[in-house]
Amino acid sequence: MTKINSNYQKLQAGYLFPEIGKRVRAFAAANPAAKIIRLGIGDVVLPLPAPVLEAMHAAVDELGKPESFKGYGPEQGYDFLLQPISEHFKSQGADVAPDEIFVSDGSKCDTANIQEIFAVDNVIAVTDPVYPVYVDTNVMAGRTGEAANGRYGKLVYMPTTAENGFDPEIPKGPSPGSHVDLIYLCSPNNPTGAVMPRSSLEKWVAYAKATEAIILFDAAYEAFITEPGMVHSIYEIPGAREVAIEFHSLSKTAGFTGTRCAYTVVPKDLKARNDKGEQVAVHSLWNRRQTTKFNGVSYPIQKAAAAVFTPAGAKAIRENIEYYMENARIIREGLRAAGYTVYGGINAPYIWLKVPGNSTSWNFFDKLLNEAQVVGTPGSGFGSCGEGYFRLSAFGFRENVLEAVERIKSRVKP
Ligand SMILES: *Cc1c(COP(=O)(O)O)cnc(C)c1O
Repeated sequence: MTKINSNYQKLQAGYLFPEIGKRVRAFAAANPAAKIIRLGIGDVVLPLPAPVLEAMHAAVDELGKPESFKGYGPEQGYDFLLQPISEHFKSQGADVAPDEIFVSDGSKCDTANIQEIFAVDNVIAVTDPVYPVYVDTNVMAGRTGEAANGRYGKLVYMPTTAENGFDPEIPKGPSPGSHVDLIYLCSPNNPTGAVMPRSSLEKWVAYAKATEAIILFDAAYEAFITEPGMVHSIYEIPGAREVAIEFHSLSKTAGFTGTRCAYTVVPKDLKARNDKGEQVAVHSLWNRRQTTKFNGVSYPIQKAAAAVFTPAGAKAIRENIEYYMENARIIREGLRAAGYTVYGGINAPYIWLKVPGNSTSWNFFDKLLNEAQVVGTPGSGFGSCGEGYFRLSAFGFRENVLEAVERIKSRVKP
């Protein structure tokens, strides 16, 4: 009899978004006239900007002619995309060479797949609340124990709450069990909207260097940073090339959630040890993994992605990001004026609000849905430390955002 990978049975049901859907459908069925405004899901609404679309169209036409047809491309991505990405890093003060960049069809896949080049007995550290992909993929791989009270055994959870400014604390050594090997950090953060300060990232890089740990840095929302002086790439921190892998995505940055294009940086200076204790370059492992299991992103999509890095493309996506960040400002300031305690929304398209009173995230979800017909995301769905918080997304059309804020202000007093 064939046996399954039993680690899959440790996975807790993907409960958050199905449960939101269920409650919204039930409400809509009972209130058919209600106009429901959805600020729950992290998906963009604005269409692809013209320079991106034109590049994609032109590339599609090239595929229709024998002289410009393309078959398989390089698994790592075409040079016409790797070069401008590398230059973009350099413009931010991050030293990343084109051959350290791996183009892919998503940061979800990359943050999910990266763990397989590391040993099963590595200790994993994640923040709480957290993007669930980091956790579930390590559960599947067998790096955790069973789940109890919303947490998996063997995982090291680092609370990020208002009390610590949403900044994860470095595990304190040298007590047994305090050392961690793979550390997932996401900044600007989904769901809290917080951005890690430079001083904090410097501490993490120093910690990783001292303990031979590796930081997996998810920078999917880097382009949403509005405050000057914030860290956009961990490679701005001296020494990070020896300890960090960084993930970028055009999904939120350029409206590619449906189109699919992302990239991951594995610096050649990054080493980890094999069973014999010898140092091995992580870059060559990831390259081997990608060339074995992945055949690259399609040519028209890479051409569209390259357009994001042209002056016209960069300007167009900047305008879209500013539109979303104005939404974020409207939500943040509107709710604050109404008496809510709100976080985020300045360097990230998410507003993380404190649920008023001692109510739970799900109670607040129901209250917002019933009284204002606004849908958000209960913070508890991202981890036990998210209980008592609530996420609103700035990815919406302006008129809906304005109406949602007005409704909350007038109908759902904190
Ligand atoms: C949306 C998101 C991504 C991007 O995922 P893609 O697969 O590139 O669409 C990565 N990390 C976080 C935390 C996200 O919210």
